Order: sequence, then structure tokens, then C-alpha cells
Amino acid sequence: MRKYDYLIVGAGLFGATFAYRAHQAGKTCLVIDKRAHRGGNVYCEDMAGIPVHKYGAHIFHTSNKEVWAFVNNLVEFNRYTNSPVANYKGKLYNLPFNMNTFNALWGVKTPDEAMVEIERQKAEAVAALNGREPANLEEQALTLVGKDIFEKLIKGYTEKQWGRSCKELPAFIIRRLPVRLVFDNNYFNDKYQGIPIGGYNKLIDALLEGVQTKTDTDFFHSPYKNWQNYAHKLVYTGALDEYFHYQYGHLDWRTVSFETEFIPQANYQGNAVVNYTERDIPYTRIIEHKHFEFFGAEVYENPVTVISREYPTEYQDGMEPYYPINDAKNNELADKYRALATQEKNVIFGGRLAEYRYYDMAPIIEKVLAIKEL
Ligand code: FAD
Ligand code: UDP
Repeated sequence: MRKYDYLIVGAGLFGATFAYRAHQAGKTCLVIDKRAHRGGNVYCEDMAGIPVHKYGAHIFHTSNKEVWAFVNNLVEFNRYTNSPVANYKGKLYNLPFNMNTFNALWGVKTPDEAMVEIERQKAEAVAALNGREPANLEEQALTLVGKDIFEKLIKGYTEKQWGRSCKELPAFIIRRLPVRLVFDNNYFNDKYQGIPIGGYNKLIDALLEGVQTKTDTDFFHSPYKNWQNYAHKLVYTGALDEYFHYQYGHLDWRTVSFETEFIPQANYQGNAVVNYTERDIPYTRIIEHKHFEFFGAEVYENPVTVISREYPTEYQDGMEPYYPINDAKNNELADKYRALATQEKNVIFGGRLAEYRYYDMAPIIEKVLAIKEL
């Protein structure tokens, strides 16, 4: 039987980037994934020529020059700049909170006028506390940005996202809520951002070129669970608790349900991301995937479009684990599993499932590039 240098469990961004580096270093790898496709959560499904971000909208952004050079060496990125729009009771506001937002809220035209209004509303919220510290997310947000922004753009969205009232959510979740006194709708502060032209599968294909991969192969229900028979080392990017057969119990996750549909028109909402910030609309946002890939007149070259409504959902076994719940209880449990992981010989645990940490794409690549010995 052939022995690979590495058996890699998971063809997501961590597994694929690791495989790329190992392959470049002359090592042999077998990558397996339990899903029917490669790419993990960055996988895009082609629907009528539109790359649909099947597991949620993904925008690549980083200030790390090395990471940006690494991915651009593999695929070409487009000029997509994330600039979500918020819809509150039918009126539209630009995000992040900037001069365009303040103009729509109050009609102010200069940074000084905006500042005066924000400071007035913040002072009102501080006075209402009578010298106490903000005790919950609602009080915290009110003291940071004032009533109008909180009620129109934060309250409903946050309550839907977390499934709880802002009065019951801890204040520490939002230490900062940046307000920008410039007319700039770019959501991210990073130096570089974009999306691979043709979607993320191009990036995954480039990373896995020349590497053997097997989909529909669950590590725990395959002969590969006895990985020592197949490889010298294991790279494991699956769930941390599952690796140890949930012996201390299950880690909790937050998940999102996507309702994706074709719309027989060229341009549905005119933007990739529209947030619905009122409580009564059950979804948090609508993604129109075509705007990640096509710009200006290109939008009209395809007569149809694809949208996804996002519904935050309470996680249950069998659902997709998206966001780790890094509260005290779960962090403690994860630490117990991490302690077991350090005792596993010749096994590298990496990525968001195996580390039980939320990572954006760029930090995942940064972590793999930092691995010294392959
Ligand atoms: P994954 O992509 O989850 O890959 C792990 C793989 O392991 C999966 O394919 C899984 O099927 C496989 N696997 C698990 N268990 C087994 C097993 N037992 N046997 C075989 N295979 C197994 N990042 C950004 O930078 N920008 C964004 O805009 C952005 N948006 C996001 C939106 C959402 C909804 C989510 C959830 C994440 C977002 N991210 C974003 C983060 C991004 O998805 C991650 O950084 C990236 O996917 C992490 O890669 P990974 O390889 O660690 O995990
Ligand atoms: N948020 C908000 N209104 C919005 C968008 C975001 O109040 O229109 C808050 C909300 O509390 C959310 C947090 O900002 O949980 C982070 O949202 P973002 O979409 O930036 O990040 P993600 O949900 O993708 O982690």
C-alpha cells in the first residue's frame, strides 16, 4: 500500500493551502473531504453562469502583503469592494456608518454637522445611565452611537443574529462601533480586497493542482480512520470534538440557513449585500451573488439573477457548524480537547473546525504560510 507523506482531512482553505505547500515541497498528499465537492465553505456553485457562494457570502480582504501576493499568484482577483446597504422599513442607508448614512438619517452635509448630532445623541444616552456603566449591548451601543443609529441600523439586525434581545446580550460584544466622517462606503479597512474572477473554486483548483483528492469520504466512516496505514502524518481540519468522539461533550455552534432562488430579472437589488435591519423581517440579509462577479453593464448580460436570504438559525446536530460560540463554557470545553490534541503524535490540527476559532480566509492562509516544517 502506498504511504503518503500527508493524509489531509478536509479540502477547505486550510487543507487545500497546506496541500499546496506540501506538494511544492515535494511531499505526497491525499486530501479527503466528506462533502461532494472541494473548497469547504468557500465553495461556489454555478447557477446560470453566476458563481453562488453556497455557504455564505465570502469577500477576501487583508492588509497582509504576503498573503495577497500568494493568492494573486494563483488566480486573478476582481475589484469587488464590499459596501452593504441597510434597508430599515423601506428606507435605505449606507454601511458602514459614514457621511452617506448620516446624510440619509439627518440631512447633515458636513462632518461637523454630523459630529454635533452624534455627540448630542450619545450624551443623552450617557445621561440616562446616571453614572453607571452600560450593563448590556443596548446601553453600550446607545452610548457609542446614539439612539437613531442604534434603533434603525443595529437593534433589529443584532437581535435576529443572536436570537436574543439587545438588553439580554452582554455589553462586551461591541466595544467599538466606528463612525466615519467621510463619504466612504467601503466596509473593510484592509488594504486589499476582492473575489477571485470566476469564483473561489478557481482558487481551490489552483491550490490542489497535482494533488490527489477524494470527495464523499468521511474520515470517521472510511478506512482512512486508521490513517497510520496510509500516511506518515495527518492534517486534520474537521471538528475538534468529533476527533475525540465527543468524550467531554459537544461544542456549540451558531449557524445560518440559506434560502436561495432564481429571479427572472437581470438586476434584483442593485447590490451584492442588503441588510434588513428591522426585527419583523425574519431574515438578516439578502445576497445577490451576481454583483460579486459582474459590474456595470455586465450585470445586464445575463437576464436572470440568483439571491439568497439568510436566516440565523439555532444550531442542532447535522447542521453546518458556521460560527464557534466562544463563551466561557465552550472555551473551557475546547481547552480540554486542545489539551488532548497536543498529545496526538504526528497530527496537525488546523482551521476553524479543528481549532474551534473563527478565522477569516486571509488569516487561515497566513497560518498555513507560517508553518515552518513540512
Ligand atoms: P472549512 O472551509 O469548513 O473546511 C473544512 C472541511 O473539512 C470541510 O470541507 C468539511 O466538509 C471537511 N470535513 C470536516 N469533517 C470531516 C470529516 N470527518 N471527514 C472529511 N472531511 C471533513 N472569511 C472571509 O475572509 N471573508 C468573508 O466574507 C467570510 N464570510 C464567511 C461567511 C460565513 C457564513 C462563514 C461561516 C464563514 C465566512 N468566512 C469568511 C470564513 C471562511 O469561511 C473560513 O476562513 C474558511 O472557510 C476556513 O477554512 P477551513 O479549511 O478552516 O474550514
Ligand atoms: N450589525 C448591525 N447591523 C448591520 C450589520 C451588522 O447591527 O446592518 C452588527 C451585528 O451585531 C452583527 C455585527 O455587527 O452581529 C457583525 O456583523 P458583520 O455582518 O460585520 O459580521 P458577520 O456577521 O459576518 O460576522
